[in-house]
Amino acid sequence: MKRVTGTTIFLVGIILAVMVSGLGGAIYDKLIFYGRVARLYTKEADSRLALPVQDVTKRQIANTWHAPRGTDRLHEGQDIFAPKGTPILSATSGYVYNVGANNLGGQTVSVIGAGGRVYYYAHLDSYAPGIEVGNPVTTSTVLGYVGTTGNAQGTPPHLHFGVYTSSGAINPLPLIADRAAPVLTRTRPAETPRRRPLVSRRPSAS
Ligand SMILES: [Zn+2]
Repeated sequence: MKRVTGTTIFLVGIILAVMVSGLGGAIYDKLIFYGRVARLYTKEADSRLALPVQDVTKRQIANTWHAPRGTDRLHEGQDIFAPKGTPILSATSGYVYNVGANNLGGQTVSVIGAGGRVYYYAHLDSYAPGIEVGNPVTTSTVLGYVGTTGNAQGTPPHLHFGVYTSSGAINPLPLIADRAAPVLTRTRPAETPRRRPLVSRRPSAS
């Protein structure tokens, strides 16, 4: 059902893009972007999210999913605490979907990923230079920096991280995985025995 809808939207996007390609410029770019986004809907949503704050491990995240916030609201995400200015990295690949400020979130970035899921990054102290709607991102793209904007003013700096499906917010915590430790580049000693090259390799994802 969802698959069919996504494909249909994608095809309509492509047809429209071709129809107006003569116009060129911004409209064409926008339609290309819509086409790319529509294409994401045809893909399976990510089952594993790279921890979106540099140098934080999953063990350090206290589960606050659906914790009461005031009298009429539940916490629809996870808060990841880190010093102000710590880089926020995209948890998935996808495209920047929205960049902007709102009352609760302060400065925010949203990324749309596979399955049409939207990943919401809030309370940013600042945006990464050059972050704009439509930019492709990977799990190594810096989106911005940890801060206290929006309703995080007066709290320890943290990233509010939300994951939205077409039917609403889901708990990101079970999906979050630690990032691999940074790979150290060093010269291999000459005497180290060489590994036999692998004939075939399984996909490393999940
Ligand atoms: Zn939060």
